[in-house]
Amino acid sequence: MADTSGPDSLPAPVFGPDSEEMLLCVRCDLRYVPSKSTSSLRLTYCSFLCELGDLGFSIAGLEHMEPKPKALEPPAVEPAVELEPQPTEPATVD
Ligand SMILES: [Zn+2]
Repeated sequence: MADTSGPDSLPAPVFGPDSEEMLLCVRCDLRYVPSKSTSSLRLTYCSFLCELGDLGFSIAGLEHMEPKPKALEPPAVEPAVELEPQPTEPATVD
């Protein structure tokens, strides 16, 4: 018995003009070639602008970011300071 499965049964894969696989940007739904993406997440976004717009930050920017000091946190709430009335001693007049 000869194998009768021909090449016609193979589905044509989706490839770009450079015969490179194209992906769909999750933000702008644009087809793009991952190797030409400027995003750090080039398998997800077509450019760093889409990465920035979707995440609110860029991965590349995060790598250069310094950990923020805790001084930016709001100060601990202190209990209400009870102002004791200062006893004003009247000048003793003879
Ligand atoms: Zn995009």
